[in-house]
Amino acid sequence: MLRLFDTAIGDLAEIVPVIPGKFSMYVCGPTVYDLAHLGHGRYALVFDVLRRYLEWRGLKVRHVSNITDVDDKILERAEVEHRSPFEVASEFEAKWFSTMDQLGVLKPHLVPHATEYVEQMIGLIESLFKADAAYIGDDGIYFDSAKVADYGLLARQSLDSLKAGARIAEKGFKRSPMDFVLWKFSDGSSWSWDSPWGPGRPGWHTECVVMSVDLLGEQFDLHGGGLDLSFPHHENERAQAVVMDYKFARHWVHNGFVMVGNDKMSKSLGNFTTLDELLLDTDPRAYRLLVLQSHYRSPLEVNAQTLSEASRALMRLDFTQERVTGLGVDLKGSNLDETELAAFTQSMDDDLDTASATARLFELRSSVNQLLDEGRITEAVRTYVTMEHLFAALGLNLSGPPASEVPPNVLELLEQRAVARTDGNYVLSDSIRQELLDFGYVVEDTFGGQKIKKVR
Ligand SMILES: [Zn+2]
Repeated sequence: MLRLFDTAIGDLAEIVPVIPGKFSMYVCGPTVYDLAHLGHGRYALVFDVLRRYLEWRGLKVRHVSNITDVDDKILERAEVEHRSPFEVASEFEAKWFSTMDQLGVLKPHLVPHATEYVEQMIGLIESLFKADAAYIGDDGIYFDSAKVADYGLLARQSLDSLKAGARIAEKGFKRSPMDFVLWKFSDGSSWSWDSPWGPGRPGWHTECVVMSVDLLGEQFDLHGGGLDLSFPHHENERAQAVVMDYKFARHWVHNGFVMVGNDKMSKSLGNFTTLDELLLDTDPRAYRLLVLQSHYRSPLEVNAQTLSEASRALMRLDFTQERVTGLGVDLKGSNLDETELAAFTQSMDDDLDTASATARLFELRSSVNQLLDEGRITEAVRTYVTMEHLFAALGLNLSGPPASEVPPNVLELLEQRAVARTDGNYVLSDSIRQELLDFGYVVEDTFGGQKIKKVR
């Protein structure tokens, strides 16, 4: 049985779906005002791997992830660039999904937008008023955190200790520093919605409550995101659900940070690398492999060295793949090795220990090579097919299309791109990459040169 670390209990929890055979998960999505960075890539990959694993186990997963398309940061960018906030949001949403596509992250089954849920958010805020958990401040409507007895659960701290550690100098009137805004009164900007309290915009923490309950019901299996969301975002969502008497998320799961040296990578610290920058000269599978090789809750150090190690490991996998496919034998006829499937399941069930699972798959790779060296082809093929199958379960695809199946125009573009890269013309090489993507091919730069993979 799968066990995951549940932030709400501070311990491992056995994951028993609300509805047997099904699994409902809500993962907080991006605020679309800029390009995705490596931290976004990590959470997207972690929850992509979780979803793929659950599906591999035979569960019918319903994966919902929202787009926050109403936010002060979107408005700020729109004002600086003299365009509408909707335009900014739709531009960065499109870029988000294009980048996720390159990373091989499956699109969530449902992608609700905050702007589609403003009416329902107003409804929720009215209910919070009725329950005496909301009050009017001078710049908006606030949630009264004192109304939730166990407020601070996801921070693993009590309300009193959170209050003691809070900064007092915050704008606007609040009864407690832990109270949070549900609705911001309009500050004269044209970007506002009508409400019983006049024109304004919803606060961030309400949208995920209404969207998750609308699409997954009042109780669902898992609510996830990066560790930085556990407090205050997820706690504030949970607080609203407590007042509404929703059972809400059964489990809260958070992944660790991406680190740069000793610091967390974040936009606010200005030490971030965008995923697009990374993917200019790194095989997207190398980043997935790097994410898989560490435990999802551990900090992940991403630098030239760790990326190059992952790229080299990937090259070794591709080398073995080429060796086996070069045999010209039918791989489809081979059975999977049950012992390895069981070992994989055991690692993954243990708090999604992809690090152990991946390490064991690399041992299988060594076995494949050894068996091939010894001429034991049937065993080599069986071991390879098992390894390939299990990597695929983690979203890491070892097989590319044979060169003969690649259309001539795609081959021509690849040649042009190789020339552009030799000339150091990365703008051109990047635009050719985009063009190739339009033809359905992801191009990857490996130490052995460009490699392409058909994605649709
Ligand atoms: Zn959220």
